[in-house]
Amino acid sequence: MNRSQPQHFKNRLQTPIQYVKGVGPKRAKLFEKKGILTVEDGLYFLPRCYEDRRHLKKISELRAGGKETGFGEILLSGTAFYQNKKKRVFEVVVGDGSGTITLKWFRGNERYLKERFKKGQRMIFSGEVRWFNYQKEIHHPDMEIVEGDIEEDYINFKRIVPIYSETEGLYQRTLRRLLKSIVDGYSDELTSPIPEEIVERQDLIDFSEAFRRVHFPPDGESIEKLNLQRSDGHRRIIFDEFFFLELGLALKKRGVALETGISFRTQGTLSQRLLNQLSFQLTLAQERALAEIVEDMEKPHPMNRLIQGDVGSGKTIVALLASLRVVECGYQAAIMAPTEVLAEQHYLTIHRWVEPLGVGVALLTSNIKGSEREEIYDRIRRGEVQIVIGTHAVIQEQVEFHRLGLAIIDEQHKFGVVQRGLLKKKGGNPDVLVMTATPIPRTLAMTIYGDLDISLIDEMPPGRMPVETRVFPESARNRVYRIVEEEVKKGRQVFIVYPLVEESEKLDLMDATQMAEHLQKDVFPGFRIGLLHGRMKSDEKEAIMGEFKEKAIHILVATTVIEVGIDIPNASVMVVEHAERFGLSQLHQLRGRIGRGQYPSKCVLLAQYRSSEEAKVRLRAMEQTNDGFKIAEQDLELRGPGEFFGIRQSGLPDFRVAHLIRDTSILIEARKEAFRLVQGDPDMEKPSHSALKDVLKKRWKGRLELATIG
Ligand code: ADP
Ligand code: MG
Repeated sequence: MNRSQPQHFKNRLQTPIQYVKGVGPKRAKLFEKKGILTVEDGLYFLPRCYEDRRHLKKISELRAGGKETGFGEILLSGTAFYQNKKKRVFEVVVGDGSGTITLKWFRGNERYLKERFKKGQRMIFSGEVRWFNYQKEIHHPDMEIVEGDIEEDYINFKRIVPIYSETEGLYQRTLRRLLKSIVDGYSDELTSPIPEEIVERQDLIDFSEAFRRVHFPPDGESIEKLNLQRSDGHRRIIFDEFFFLELGLALKKRGVALETGISFRTQGTLSQRLLNQLSFQLTLAQERALAEIVEDMEKPHPMNRLIQGDVGSGKTIVALLASLRVVECGYQAAIMAPTEVLAEQHYLTIHRWVEPLGVGVALLTSNIKGSEREEIYDRIRRGEVQIVIGTHAVIQEQVEFHRLGLAIIDEQHKFGVVQRGLLKKKGGNPDVLVMTATPIPRTLAMTIYGDLDISLIDEMPPGRMPVETRVFPESARNRVYRIVEEEVKKGRQVFIVYPLVEESEKLDLMDATQMAEHLQKDVFPGFRIGLLHGRMKSDEKEAIMGEFKEKAIHILVATTVIEVGIDIPNASVMVVEHAERFGLSQLHQLRGRIGRGQYPSKCVLLAQYRSSEEAKVRLRAMEQTNDGFKIAEQDLELRGPGEFFGIRQSGLPDFRVAHLIRDTSILIEARKEAFRLVQGDPDMEKPSHSALKDVLKKRWKGRLELATIG
């Protein structure tokens, strides 16, 4: 094959946007602000919505209550005053002979608006039409000033018109004109080598055609579908993004399945002995997860499994039972937790559980130093320790295992894929088990944790009392203190949590420290208050947690070090200070620290009343549901998948158009097709698949080890 040809194609799409006719260096800078550097980026810069200008209505025909588009001449423009001159509103009155309509701006740069709208200009506007004082009006319309003859203008009129996201200096009409020239000049260069068979089965339109239609839809398209990004063109582009994502995942997964691992075959005597001594029985969901794990462990290939279960669903015991099977076969298990406090807690619980069985457990954190640390290293190396529990310290270079059989990562969403890889490398292809309380929808989980198999613990241990959540304003602080007091008098314990925002970490820490003092001296002199934060030394932390566990401390003032994993069943109240500063998933994690015993529990979210709208939505969601899945979906909606924790570090390619939540149904189809393709051609050897490999490499940018597939 002529090698220069694809190179040539690639170059055309990689043409810097500056060289597109009409762009030039100045506009290129503006495009750059939007992340658009090349022609290809430009093609992927899809309209944010569409306006139906196939038939422009007369102003008299515009209906109130719906989104409408109209056209007319500016009759008047200027600032109007309302409410005894207290409120300024910028108004533009537009007429077309059939009637008039008033366009209103309640905020915005008045001087700029005045400059922009002059009497006699013609403009097109759209937005929701409403009635006010017997007149039609639109607030904050989308609008464009019209020059030239609209009968001749086939980009901006007489069609479904794309609306792009603007930036200062780059407005609709310019954007539309430039995009038109990019689409006309370059869309033919776009290729997506998805095999014909799949294209047919999925009823996909031509790839280049998809871009043409999405930017400048033909008249027959449905405006509703376009605006929902559900047109055939959109579907084609989204499918393409998902397909290459899933193809990469399918290959990764297959790569793991081919590796030789350890087959752990055991009667499970040790784990049975632990089960006998527990004060509770496993839930059905825990048993199911454990059975799936055991089945994987018996196979001669490495396990790569994720346990997904809401906070408090009992993941730790499942992980421990799996560890014991490994120990029984003469191997070691390592459990890595994201914080010291959590590692220590795991150590305490697990140590207590398995010491009677004669299993050696060691704690390894960065705070254990000197000779003590050296000794732990030795014992791990000699295999005297069978279960190692720790923080990042476990993946340090100096740590050598005797025979690592199982690597467990708790609260996986706090780590990246890199750490998982490092821990795995500590053994000869050990089994890997990761746990997360991020309750994301299954299809999404399958993608984010792409190459993992998933076990779901979707049931809480019996007897849990629901947690009642309420938002209180700062002014109700005394009422909150009374709730705290009542609970402590009943013998319960309380968490008071402070946010720790990085930029002002010192200040926040002072908050927590001062608050603890203030509470002790002025508010609850009769109770014991403890303080816990991340800057404390390991043994101090341990001592405080120990005292809290033994109920010597009634109220624990803490930073978010207690966010993950902490298990104190007697704690029944949590007060979150500055709740408006926390993200939804984080609040849910925090709330998971209470309601773990048989007592009804209360979560109090103290919010500063000047919180943003978004913060209010978040806090309301917390009041409304305890369901981690619902919380996660809401969080994802509010923050978008990029921000949603765990995804950033997941090592997945970025999406330009596809949206993991909105486009789930396309994701499922793309996944099906990609996995099917890899099943039929595991090494991607078919000549017809070689173009696929090139695209894969480009999309995954080295994040996919393609060595295995050549
Ligand atoms: P998470 O899934 O959030 O990590 P943990 O493993 O910390 O949850 O478990 C929460 C609490 O529930 C612990 O005190 C644990 O001992 C207890 N627990 C776990 N499984 C059960 C069960 N089947 N019945 C009763 N209590 C259980
Ligand atoms: Mg846990």
